[in-house]
Amino acid sequence: MDLGIRGKRALVCASSKGLGLGCAESLAAAGVDLVMNARGSEALEFEAARIRSDYGVDVQTVACDVTSLDGQEQVINAAQGVDILVTNAGGPPPGMWSDWEREDFIKALDANMLTPIAFMKALLPGMMDKGWGRVVNITSQSVRAPIAVLGLSNAARTGLTGYVAGTARQVAPQGVTINNLLPGIHATDRADALDSGVSLQKNISMEDARAERAATIPARRYGTRQEFGAACAFLCSQHAGFIVGQNILLDGGGTNLTM
Ligand code: NAP
Repeated sequence: MDLGIRGKRALVCASSKGLGLGCAESLAAAGVDLVMNARGSEALEFEAARIRSDYGVDVQTVACDVTSLDGQEQVINAAQGVDILVTNAGGPPPGMWSDWEREDFIKALDANMLTPIAFMKALLPGMMDKGWGRVVNITSQSVRAPIAVLGLSNAARTGLTGYVAGTARQVAPQGVTINNLLPGIHATDRADALDSGVSLQKNISMEDARAERAATIPARRYGTRQEFGAACAFLCSQHAGFIVGQNILLDGGGTNLTM
């Protein structure tokens, strides 16, 4: 299917690995020029070079922490005039409700709520002026069904979800859509970190920890970054202009819900 977005330009935050990289690759495959970002420059430059050579698109890189005000300024300057915004950042650490202090909540809110809001505030006006734009926020299945050990993530991401629900309806008249993609378990470094927590806690091997978690998913496997990226590219396509303010689970059926 031709996604109809060849020649458009996208900012994909936190995109040197994992789900962000999946989104960057799928957009590049559709002919979209990119601004890619991550804190570490080695993987970022490596993936940017690979994408340029594989897809022939223009790729600009900005190595910085998107959750810092300085990092946001650098990325927003590089991304002026983009047609597509994919927000993403690392997820907060797991723990118990009784572990977290105010500072931990502020960090999580900054990374997983206020950072995507800052990017939308800065880049939506340019999209609205052009009468076309797409925003996809990478959130989590925890927005639909809480994951108890990820209380910081549950709290910050539901805040973002509430913000998007209203804002998506305010910008839709100008041809701009905002939607959230909710990953279930995907095979990335983040999943490895969570699996290693399970492996330590239960004193089992990483392989067994993975098999245990995969067995909880009706699809009986982890998702891939390529599948995730393809869904993101579709939401950014010309065909998705009537999808507004939605929260789309990509979880192999893992979240037990009727609707
Ligand atoms: P990942 O494999 O660990 O990749 C994270 C990417 O983001 C890397 O490129 C990393 O590069 C970059 N990054 C992290 N923090 C950043 C920051 N502050 N500023 C700029 N770049 C940053 O993670 P993932 O699995 O793709 O997860 C992406 C998001 O989805 C996370 O918020 C995660 O919590 C959420 N999620 C993931 C899953 C899953 O199963 N994978 C499930 C539910 C939700 P640098 O380290 O070099 O910065």
